[in-house]
Amino acid sequence: MFVLAMSACVLALVVWKGYDARRNALAQSETEMRNLAHSLAEHASHTIQSADVVMDDLVAFIRFQPFPDRARFDARLREVSEKLPQIKELATLDAKGDVDHASVTPPPAINNADRDYFVYHRDHADPKLRITGPIVSRASGQPVIAVTRRLETADGGFAGIVVATIESDYFTEFYKTFDLGAGSGITLSGGDGHILVRWPTAAGDLSKSRLFERMLPRSPVGYNLAISPFDGLQKYYAYEQLSRYPLVVTVARTEVSVLADWREAVRSDAVVATAALACIVLLAAGLAVQLRNRERFERLLRERDARHRLIDANIGDVVVVLDGRGVVTFVSMSIETVLGFRPEEVLGRVYFDMMHPDDVAGLQAMGKRLPDVPNGLRAEFRMERADGTMVWLEANFRFTRQDGRPGRSIVCTLRDVTRRKEMEDEVEALNSRLAEMARTDALTGLPNRRALDDFIAGEFEASHDLSVLMIDVDDFKGFNDRLGHHAGDDALRQLGRLLAGTAAGAGGFAARYGGEEFTIVLPGTGKAVAIAFAEELQAAIRALGIVNPSAARGRLTVSIGIADKIASICDPATLLRCADIALYEAKRRGRDCSVAAPAFVGDAGSLVPDVATRTGTPA
Ligand code: GH3
Ligand code: MG
Ligand code: MG
Repeated sequence: MFVLAMSACVLALVVWKGYDARRNALAQSETEMRNLAHSLAEHASHTIQSADVVMDDLVAFIRFQPFPDRARFDARLREVSEKLPQIKELATLDAKGDVDHASVTPPPAINNADRDYFVYHRDHADPKLRITGPIVSRASGQPVIAVTRRLETADGGFAGIVVATIESDYFTEFYKTFDLGAGSGITLSGGDGHILVRWPTAAGDLSKSRLFERMLPRSPVGYNLAISPFDGLQKYYAYEQLSRYPLVVTVARTEVSVLADWREAVRSDAVVATAALACIVLLAAGLAVQLRNRERFERLLRERDARHRLIDANIGDVVVVLDGRGVVTFVSMSIETVLGFRPEEVLGRVYFDMMHPDDVAGLQAMGKRLPDVPNGLRAEFRMERADGTMVWLEANFRFTRQDGRPGRSIVCTLRDVTRRKEMEDEVEALNSRLAEMARTDALTGLPNRRALDDFIAGEFEASHDLSVLMIDVDDFKGFNDRLGHHAGDDALRQLGRLLAGTAAGAGGFAARYGGEEFTIVLPGTGKAVAIAFAEELQAAIRALGIVNPSAARGRLTVSIGIADKIASICDPATLLRCADIALYEAKRRGRDCSVAAPAFVGDAGSLVPDVATRTGTPA
């Protein structure tokens, strides 16, 4: 549409300008041609008039002096023709038509009695000047225009004529100095339309032309467009009739030559307009391509923007961009979900100011290392939400990179890990609870066998002196059988509490070995102290006063085997085995007593305790 509109404008401009220029060219040509016709009419008028004046003198002279002195009169004629270059010959003819006097010497022996003008003057008593032409001069042989007047005798009789000839070339040489273009012409014709002179040369008669038939009768000057009677071309005519003589000057120019300059101007305008249109078309084409590209890019940008917004609105992570001073320069919309702040509330704030004070130092230290780690650093820290609650965030910080070098901004992706943190804490608590449960006996609350093994292994390495007591409840099966397992469990719990307290009091460690068997480990304790401790323990158990109907003494008692770490015992298992053997011995000796293993170990695999010590008092 733009191209069409511009083309229409340019076209309209060119057409309008061309039309206007054509009108101007025609108007200017008309003025010039009218002026030229006028000037040429003046020229012809002056030319004829000069001959007229001279001839007027001669006519008057001859009227009163019919036979002048030949030599002087001829000299006079010569002098006049020399002074007036337009007059080629000046002569008088006698009544018979012979040349009487002439400006050429000697006067040519010519008879012009047959000439039209002679016949006219002879037959008409018309004193007026007559113009005839073109005729071929009998004196010079050149085409001339003859200007003649009648000479009369004093009584008015015909005495001959005076004739002045003007060479046709006098006019044509003058006319050809005007450059009117091809096909143009200048015509000097008589009042009847008979052509006297024409340039370029052409003889003829215009009496039947539109000019002489219609226009001249109406106006002595004029301008019109007509078909040339000479070459049939369309021509513009400017004409002017001389006021003094019956002569008409016509200037003709072909339409083609009148409009030649205009055509040239129109042609160059058309070239310029075509070039302008071509430029417009090219520009428009370029513009169209640009617009299409721009539209495509805008669509791509819109799509990308929409995608970013979609991601931004739906992603759980928050993207924060910080400048080198830690000021937030960009934050994704998801911050509202995570922290409850609108993005504009966060923009421009210093990031560290929004963090939990306890986490700032760690993050600042991390920030110093950041430029050296292209892949960024992970951190977990707390931030306060808009509602005042704390939220745990996991973040990845990294410097933006441009051309492989660290940029000036830091990109930070945040994720709310509060729930994960809580779950981690729960799992941790659960795990430690499980670990504790795995090492604790459910019935008595004492450390179990696994905990015992670990403890004794550690102490076996660490302590120089180490004693172990294996404790077994006496006749407990019977207890259960008589009082029930529930009572048995109660008794075991009671016993467990006592053992734990007693062991702790001695800096030892009490565990349920299994069933109704318990173990006490006494680090830093030698055999003697261990034996004393065992006796005290038995006394304390008896003091509990738990009834055991199956026991010989009617009360709940225990048997204890004691072993201490001696050079021949090389591992915790052997130490426990020794205590167990000592316990066995205590049982064998009647129960409710303590037996300490001797410093003797038999051959491999069969430890034969040399039972030595018997404590306790059998009931
Ligand atoms: P002794 O050791 O004096 O030779 O006789 P005992 O009856 O204690 O010996 P035994 O090893 O045959 O019996 C142990 C009994 O301990 C068998 C079992 O019913 C009881 N017992 C083991 N663990 C538990 C327990 O957790 N709760 C209860 N109520 N009884 C248990
Ligand atoms: Mg037992
Ligand atoms: Mg027992």
